[in-house]
Amino acid sequence: MTTTNAALYERAIRVIPGGVDSPVRAFRAVGGTPKFFAEAQGAYVTDADGVRYLDFVGSWGPLILGHSHPVVVKAVQEAAARGMTYGAPCRGEVDLAEKVVAAYPGLEQVRFVSSGTEATMSAIRLARGATGRDLIVKFSGCYHGHADHLLVAAGSGLVTHGQPSSAGVPADFAALTRVLPLDDDQKLKALFASEGQKIAAVIIEPIPANNGLLLQRLEFLQLLRKLTQESGALLIFDEVISGFRVGLGGAAALYGITPDLATFGKIIGGGMPVGAYGGSRQLMKHIAPEGPVYQAGTLSGNPVAMAAGLATLKVLHEEKAWARLEDLGAQLEAELAPVLKSAKAPCGLVRVGSIAWIALQAGVVRSAEALDNGAGERYKPIFHGLLERGIYTAPSAYEVMFLSLAHTPAEITRFVTGLGEVLAGQ
Ligand SMILES: *Cc1c(COP(=O)(O)O)cnc(C)c1O
Repeated sequence: MTTTNAALYERAIRVIPGGVDSPVRAFRAVGGTPKFFAEAQGAYVTDADGVRYLDFVGSWGPLILGHSHPVVVKAVQEAAARGMTYGAPCRGEVDLAEKVVAAYPGLEQVRFVSSGTEATMSAIRLARGATGRDLIVKFSGCYHGHADHLLVAAGSGLVTHGQPSSAGVPADFAALTRVLPLDDDQKLKALFASEGQKIAAVIIEPIPANNGLLLQRLEFLQLLRKLTQESGALLIFDEVISGFRVGLGGAAALYGITPDLATFGKIIGGGMPVGAYGGSRQLMKHIAPEGPVYQAGTLSGNPVAMAAGLATLKVLHEEKAWARLEDLGAQLEAELAPVLKSAKAPCGLVRVGSIAWIALQAGVVRSAEALDNGAGERYKPIFHGLLERGIYTAPSAYEVMFLSLAHTPAEITRFVTGLGEVLAGQ
């Protein structure tokens, strides 16, 4: 039987590379055909064949209120009716900028862009422009979007000169990026001792959530703050996932560490394409038109996207979202504990607030180097087992789950029961 899904995929692979507009959506890692979604409401997505799934991907992070929240939908409809884009300043940008600035430690100004990638790319350009230095430091396993100098990873081992992790990124370009393992104080100290005066910025996901959930020791993040401060390098917190997800002030407030620059995306766009980067007025004054660091965008600060972001932040406040999300997360953790314990192969739950990761390995994992490469293979039947039970999780063992305000305690239990059945059958 040919399903609508299969027919769409057949058409898609002819005209879109791999049939998808972002590689994470493909089912390469788990096998099978990606689901084409036709509709989404609250905690549920419905595919092109009318099959409904309880969703724990949440479009990879933005949908902290769940899909199609009525307040957000109404705000978007009203904004769209007043104009899709002006190419000139509008009130929504000012309103949202004030909210982001007020929420985040040390932030005095933000610039809106259209994606998280643009935000990190622009923050790096600003860091280089403001410091007059060229070197960038990133950590292996941290994802910062697909800008050239950030598409660099490194094998384990000593401090490595960046190797491009994508074709099309010149080696000379990647050579300006240093890659360090997370959770390694010694390598961090060694790099700063040898090249500290040349480093423009260190960029990190303070809550690394793109390669498992590699929660860092507070001391490691504090050391990073200390070393960057001493050497005149800027510290960039990439809070595209964690911003407004783990609390109003993101990871910076959670850990009590104020970075020099921060990047945002996902939640602040409420499901529309948005990114932002910000810092002190002193740093942000380097950005055009005030300063010499150029950055621009036809659709930046788009009125419809601003309306979606503002509506999302409003509901987060009104619903006391972070306390409720923590309760849901705690429930997941408590109910899942016996299930994971009785599984035949080692597994555990890593969680911060509403971000959760099922680690298919034993022990605490704090770096990409400590990830078990075998997890991908073990995850395949788990993913498909959940899918058969109407539960949609990310098609990769190394991606996290996102809880939203639309999830109820009963739906958390449904996930736990489903995963329990799947693990028991293994
Ligand atoms: C998603 C993500 C990005 C990239 O954002 P896009 O909107 O996909 O370009 C950057 N950094 C982090 C931490 C992310 O999770």
